[in-house]
Amino acid sequence: MIADRKPGFNTLAIHAGAQPDPATGARATPIYQTTSFVFDDVEHAAALFNLETFGNIYTRITNPTQAVLEERVAALEGGTAGLAVASGHASQMLVFHTLLEPGDEFVSARQLYGGSINQFTHSFKKCGWTVRFADTTDADSFRAALTPKTKAIFVESIANPGGIITDIAAVAAVAKEAGVPLIVDNTLATPYLIRPIEHGADIIVHSLTKFLGGHGNSIGGAIVDCGTFDWLKSGRYPTLSAPTASYHGITFAETFGNFAFAIACRVLSLRDLGPAISPFNAFLILTGIETLPLRMQRHCDNALAVATWLSRHPKVAWVNYAGLADNKYHALAKRYCPQGAGAVFTFGLKGGYEAGIALVSNVKLFSHLANIGDTRSLIIHPASTTHRQLTDEQRMRAGAGDEVVRLSIGLEDVDDIIADLDQALAAA
Ligand SMILES: *Cc1c(COP(=O)(O)O)cnc(C)c1O
Repeated sequence: MIADRKPGFNTLAIHAGAQPDPATGARATPIYQTTSFVFDDVEHAAALFNLETFGNIYTRITNPTQAVLEERVAALEGGTAGLAVASGHASQMLVFHTLLEPGDEFVSARQLYGGSINQFTHSFKKCGWTVRFADTTDADSFRAALTPKTKAIFVESIANPGGIITDIAAVAAVAKEAGVPLIVDNTLATPYLIRPIEHGADIIVHSLTKFLGGHGNSIGGAIVDCGTFDWLKSGRYPTLSAPTASYHGITFAETFGNFAFAIACRVLSLRDLGPAISPFNAFLILTGIETLPLRMQRHCDNALAVATWLSRHPKVAWVNYAGLADNKYHALAKRYCPQGAGAVFTFGLKGGYEAGIALVSNVKLFSHLANIGDTRSLIIHPASTTHRQLTDEQRMRAGAGDEVVRLSIGLEDVDDIIADLDQALAAA
């Protein structure tokens, strides 16, 4: 890209992985909307299928538009390789499918995106994988949940929906002690705010659907291999450290070294489970990423202004935004994300469940929906929507009690955002 210097984050967000299209000179990354790719000859085809050379065969496994997205996300995170997939949930499925065997366990923070709690608790059980939950605010609770069958630890860097900042380095120390990889869902922070690799993460997952895509128009997910975990030394992950029958007996960790995990996720789990991202979605998300640094900073600045205003409102019981100086996670926020504590946070209404319903019914600029990380400001009452499948106890523990409202602050004029909340609170 630039021969004699290491490009900065803004430059990487625009250029990493991309170059003018070799066939046409097109400057923007083209949408390679094709299912398959013609082989040069029989030898080329054989080399591709044997993993002796990298190249495109079929868009379920590789595609040039996807490849630019993969390289860009990996570059922003500082990892060795990336993989783009159909959704954030698909990225989680592929990571655990590569790591776990039936009967294995993993420890996860219980403060998670509601859909991840469902995926881990119910769908993963059908694969014979057991999740044990710990408290993301207490690294010792992860140690207490370890068993001889534990194969991984999972946390969100900024935990959804509560606005909690995880002490990633403290949990990483537990993972190191236990000899298991630390997986960090970095969706709410994005690499603009937090780069988990710098704090000990081994694998990063993303829902690209949120701030990375950033415009509320495409579902996507990504896996980043940090290249830090020694699969051969561990020997507990046969997919990586034992010969692979479906690729004539190669051992991934020997052949692919510090990007073996990303390759295994692609050529085994993605190949066989199939949740590929469409080239069109990859293109939209790539375009979104070009402005990530600008958008994230504005998201954070607006969120801090809204949280400050809400914290002084008479109908508001509490505001949980780590960017506020009196918040209990403020010290962690200053250490992990000094540029801002993200755009998603919760607050509590003195009027409880009924007031929550009234507020979401009266907003006009805000959209009442189940998403975050749009240019638009979004609002949801988790107890009546995203978290309603959970038991009362699970909801409380996930930070989604009856009075809780979650906001994802957008990029509108902050005065307009505040004016909308003001009139809706008055009506509530
Ligand atoms: C949205 C989200 C997911 C799931 O991603 P999808 O793209 O909706 O599948 C996972 N983790 C977090 C933190 C999320 O916000």
